[in-house]
Amino acid sequence: MRIVPVRLGWTLLLPFPQTGDPVLRRPARALTPEEILSPAIQDLIASLFETMRAAPGVGLAAPQVGVPLQIAVIEDRASYMDKTPPEVLADRGRVPVAAHVIINPRLTIVGEESAEFFEGCLSLPGFTAVVRRALRVRADCLDERAQPVTIEAAGWYARILQHEIDHLHGALYIDRMLTRSFMTRESYEARWKDSSVAAYLEAVGDGHTNAPVDACPSGVSG
Ligand SMILES: [Zn+2]
Repeated sequence: MRIVPVRLGWTLLLPFPQTGDPVLRRPARALTPEEILSPAIQDLIASLFETMRAAPGVGLAAPQVGVPLQIAVIEDRASYMDKTPPEVLADRGRVPVAAHVIINPRLTIVGEESAEFFEGCLSLPGFTAVVRRALRVRADCLDERAQPVTIEAAGWYARILQHEIDHLHGALYIDRMLTRSFMTRESYEARWKDSSVAAYLEAVGDGHTNAPVDACPSGVSG
């Protein structure tokens, strides 16, 4: 298959298809070791890192830049956490994660514990919602040298892995969110960023069930 465009103008930055683009909804294809080692894929990996850092984001999957292949890059830098209070970081189980790539990942949920936090996505910017995710996961994948790697992750890193691997299967966080927690980033920043998820869910009623929809006729937007 042809991968276009890997480069845009003078930069390595890639475009972001937005939700509604079928590329975000189709399962991505696995790669062979030969493909992984090819210059085209090595270039793509470099561009994914560059694009993720420019966004900035802590993860970026190839379908998010219009490429339906099972590749994602992840990096959570200590500098991204500068403005977050230590207790919030501890609550989220968020610690720096070194830059790495996951290819053809298989995700296994470890244990039964889960956590609920707001998350967002570069494929639908400007919004956020609470998503329940497993607290611990294992990912068996290949690295950029096509070598097998097993990743054991917990806390925020486990959340990032689940979010990115969802992208490789055509899923977005809005498929898993507590629907009544969906809001604009602006509202979140203005009202809820310093509150706990529990406080928010208490304020809006039971965030785990959807409201009856008969008060909102279908086809009407406003
Ligand atoms: Zn995303």
